[in-house]
Amino acid sequence: MQSVDVVVLGAGAAGLMCAIEAGRRGRRVLVFDHADRIGKKILISGGGRCNFTNIHCRAESFLSNNPHFAKSALARFTPADFIALVEKHKIQYHEKTLGQLFCDRSAQDIVNMLERECREANVRIVTGTKIASVDEAKNTAAEHSYRFVVETSSGSFGATSVVVATGGLSIPKMGATGFGYQLAEQFGLGIVPYRPALVPLVFDPHDHERWCDLSGVSAEVIASADGAKRPVKFREKMLITHRGLSGPAILQISSYWQPGKAIELDLAPDARVLASLYAGNARRDRSMALAAVKSVLSTRLAERWLTVFPPAGWSNIALDKFERDLHAWKIVPAGTEGYAKAEVTAGGVDTAELDAKTMESRRVPGLYFIGEVVDVTGWLGGYNFQWAWASGASAGRVA
Ligand SMILES: Cc1cc2nc3c(=O)[nH]c(=O)nc-3n(C[C@H](O)[C@H](O)[C@H](O)COP(=O)(O)OP(=O)(O)OC[C@H]3O[C@@H](n4cnc5c(N)ncnc54)[C@H](O)[C@@H]3O)c2cc1C
Repeated sequence: MQSVDVVVLGAGAAGLMCAIEAGRRGRRVLVFDHADRIGKKILISGGGRCNFTNIHCRAESFLSNNPHFAKSALARFTPADFIALVEKHKIQYHEKTLGQLFCDRSAQDIVNMLERECREANVRIVTGTKIASVDEAKNTAAEHSYRFVVETSSGSFGATSVVVATGGLSIPKMGATGFGYQLAEQFGLGIVPYRPALVPLVFDPHDHERWCDLSGVSAEVIASADGAKRPVKFREKMLITHRGLSGPAILQISSYWQPGKAIELDLAPDARVLASLYAGNARRDRSMALAAVKSVLSTRLAERWLTVFPPAGWSNIALDKFERDLHAWKIVPAGTEGYAKAEVTAGGVDTAELDAKTMESRRVPGLYFIGEVVDVTGWLGGYNFQWAWASGASAGRVA
């Protein structure tokens, strides 16, 4: 059996960053991935340009049962630290919107950068390898220098530390597995129930009938979710799809949505849409209302809105209600598009099981969990990669 200091399971964002940090410390690091190449999700991220961080990154932009857990790792490896790495490799990048940094050229630049850093830190990466099992070594350190035995399709390996960086369940067709959750359970660690997040929502049949032929129509909205543990609002684009709703505002709020509860959309942020109809001698009829609604929504959506929710009359009370409804469209989605379309998996390894500075299991010394497999989920906009880099670096500095 070969023995190394650190075995990292998963050559994604978190695993590679961890391997780089550990390798730089002179640790003998071996990274396994069952995929045929490293960083597959990085390559498809951000529409192929990888939104690799967000300069406004704060713990408040993450969901977790323990909202304080991510603070330590995020402070130890900041967006500025990752930007320094990107600049060291002369990768051109730009801010798109809301602090989101993207590669000018291609996400491949980020993967190349990580691969090169791994090489310089003497990290060995083995792709196309199935992990059969991970167990604590039966005999103790007196006999071996390792704590764990990792059985793989490429052989058996002893390791002092095992870092689980196998990500979540989103996009199974790219090789996502629940392996990290299984390992956590095997070692007796608690799991926060996991679910698809940053995911399009699906209408019930009634709303499907009403809206889905408008597929492709978008609007700027403010989205919020009923009953969310922490009241949050996202002002971004919403898109009607052939099954329901998508677009950044919907993806963001989907992470907070609870099945059976409503999401609420303000379709006319900041506008008093019908203001002109309140003027002393203003005409009050459908065409005037339509013209007013068209000033904030596309023609097709405005027309449909008036058909589905016509004013109950032309009194001030009826117009007040119409205005209120436009700012508070309540929809109870039938569900989400699931892991096949979700950008991330929320929930995961319970942070109460992990040391916030190192990501090491409190129960099983030498076992670490990093990245998306942990119950820390970022907003859309580069936050999930920043968590992957930060949690990976934290573990890599001690593993
Ligand atoms: C379409 C899409 C676009 C995205 N765009 C962005 C973006 O622009 N910005 C952003 O911040 N976030 C984005 N994300 C989210 C981001 O990709 C993830 O949060 C991040 O990749 C998580 O990093 P990770 O290392 O924890 O997991 P992953 O990057 O998923 O890496 C896990 C690795 O483990 C391997 N693995 C899994 N199971 C096993 C097993 N049983 N044996 C061996 N290996 C295994 C996988 O092959 C994979 O290489 C996007 C996600 C998707 C799906």
